[in-house]
Amino acid sequence: MWCNTCNIETNNEKCPVCGELTIEEIPTVVHWCANCRVPIIGSKAYEKHLCPICGENASYLASDIRPVFPEERLLVELLLEKEPNTYINSPVWVANNRYYIDGKATVLPNTLLRESNIQRTVDLLDKFSHQNSYEFFNRNISLFIEANKTRLDTIVYEAHNFIRKAAELFQEENIVISFSGGKDSTVTADLTTNALSNPYLVHIFGNTTLELPQTLEYTKRYREDHPQAIFKVAENKEQNFLEVCDDIGPPARMMRWCCSMFKTGPISRVINNLYRNEQILTFYGIRQSESVSRSKYNRIEDDPEAVKIQQQTVASPIFFWNDIEIWLYILTREIDFNAAYRLGYDRVGCWCCPNNNDRAQYLNRIYLPEKSNRWRDYLISFAHHIGKPDAETYIDSGKWKARQGGNGLAAADDVKIQYTNCTSEEHSKIYRLTKPMDDEFLNMLT
Ligand SMILES: [Zn+2]
Ligand SMILES: [Zn+2]
Repeated sequence: MWCNTCNIETNNEKCPVCGELTIEEIPTVVHWCANCRVPIIGSKAYEKHLCPICGENASYLASDIRPVFPEERLLVELLLEKEPNTYINSPVWVANNRYYIDGKATVLPNTLLRESNIQRTVDLLDKFSHQNSYEFFNRNISLFIEANKTRLDTIVYEAHNFIRKAAELFQEENIVISFSGGKDSTVTADLTTNALSNPYLVHIFGNTTLELPQTLEYTKRYREDHPQAIFKVAENKEQNFLEVCDDIGPPARMMRWCCSMFKTGPISRVINNLYRNEQILTFYGIRQSESVSRSKYNRIEDDPEAVKIQQQTVASPIFFWNDIEIWLYILTREIDFNAAYRLGYDRVGCWCCPNNNDRAQYLNRIYLPEKSNRWRDYLISFAHHIGKPDAETYIDSGKWKARQGGNGLAAADDVKIQYTNCTSEEHSKIYRLTKPMDDEFLNMLT
């Protein structure tokens, strides 16, 4: 157990010093060996971190980072107005928009992304990408793998035990891997298949119909590479995304119906058809660092959202892993992964999701120009329609994502919920139902 306030290890649920609740896992930190030019994953419980390769003292770098592949590195060079391929022989890592080039931090401001000349960048990428190479990158990653071997062995051993223990109570045909095409579910699927030595496990892929092309390509390769796996695709075939937008307005952060109507809903239907009332165990790739509130997700639990459908237990073998550990696993085992990460996407999901960050929107403009332009045009006409005076700014600044409710669209009155700001707590809402609860409504909340 670990107290995040006092930074001490303890055996108690509550910190003996400050009385705060402690967390199960001791957090990891990333150190940098300037000698070997690699990050070293270490425990927060130790102050000194020696590089396992050269024995030199490694210094603190960040709490978590992910690798920057050569494709993204070139794009960043262009954005920073460096000569293309300047850093071709430098290790580059990133945490959010803070890039670590050879261990030194450079921030890439979001304004640079918003104001950059897209066409010019596309032309330059076109011109210089054939001079780009993975030669140094691969050599450096080999060292990174060597330096962090012990760490990987430890977490894989722990994850395998977790999976086997969770699976004990279930028949193997009642075990499901939730597959999204993202890095977390890639690692979860590989860990689970190996821990249970079972290549026949059921995979369910929720195709939102709003996936990045790289996600669909990767999913196709995955199926070809895992011919024994039972692979089910969950897809909403009844509804069309833009038509729903016309009816109730585009999704917003508070109303992410794109994810629910096109992902969680269809997945639940597939599970329901396959298993009826049987008990099932789903392995999925949720991580503590990403779950919104710690109370909402535990590492293993009976899914409160799924209770309405059937008895489902959900478990996450990688719950305590951070980004660098996910990548350490993928790169060490040399497993295939979604190529969108090479371009610089830090998460993959619906490409038009209101939860996407500035980075994803920028990358869409570069790599998915037709769809992203059409979507922008659509949003601007929507903004006009609901009477926004400065429609383009309203869209480009991202204010549309903060919308609450349907905003003036006729059908939005039917959207079944109304709410006011909760008076006692800033971030909570009081919902008042205008119609009886049904599945569609429940899906909107998930
Ligand atoms: Zn404490
Ligand atoms: Zn070293």
